[in-house]
Amino acid sequence: MNSEKQFLENLAHLRERIKSACDRCHRPVDEVELMAVTKTHPVQAARWAVAAGLERIGENRVQEAAQKRPQMAGPAGLWELIGPLQSNKARLALETVDRIQTVDRLKLVRVLDRLCGELGRDAFPVLLQVNVGEDPAKHGCRADEADRLVDAIRHSGHLKLEGLMTIGELTDDEKRIRATFARLRNLRDRLEHEWEIPLPVLSMGMTDDLELAIEEGSTLIRVGTALFGSR
Ligand SMILES: *Cc1c(COP(=O)(O)O)cnc(C)c1O
Repeated sequence: MNSEKQFLENLAHLRERIKSACDRCHRPVDEVELMAVTKTHPVQAARWAVAAGLERIGENRVQEAAQKRPQMAGPAGLWELIGPLQSNKARLALETVDRIQTVDRLKLVRVLDRLCGELGRDAFPVLLQVNVGEDPAKHGCRADEADRLVDAIRHSGHLKLEGLMTIGELTDDEKRIRATFARLRNLRDRLEHEWEIPLPVLSMGMTDDLELAIEEGSTLIRVGTALFGSR
């Protein structure tokens, strides 16, 4: 990414895309939050985003986030981990980000809960990453594992489940991408109902599929390329 001016132009264009998608499905634009995904870009990208009023910054790798975040001069925004988390990086993740979107297995729930206890963190926000497309190349739990994980997080002393996250299918077939997003929304609705807990966050949609995600109910889109150019 070359300049803040270019970034602001990209942001204006992106906001148009979001508005059009919201208009098409009769949703108010403020139902859809925009996260700036700054992975591989210098910390400057996150500074521009926060200065432009984007609160949420997404990073894929714990170490990269830990290295960049302290360099934010002024307001830092809210940082979130959106890439896979290994247990041995869990402590650094908790010390670095404000929410972890990629909780996808029981072991990780236990490790995060224990570490939160040690670090004196309470109600640490997490999302459950679900591999609804059952793509073997992707992280995330299977849909049929979600109940066990929801139960484990509910019974953890220190974690707070705020919703679900998924990555859309990598295909040109819009129907299939849309079906993936719809499955995540339906799973969320079912889990909310059966466990009687609010799960307000549906984190889905990126540069190439954000319109479909919004039309299928996304409340948080994670956008890198459309804001900062290709990586
Ligand atoms: C990189 C990444 C994004 C952003 O992708 P773009 O296509 O650049 O918008 C969103 N979510 C996750 C999990 C990512 O890894």
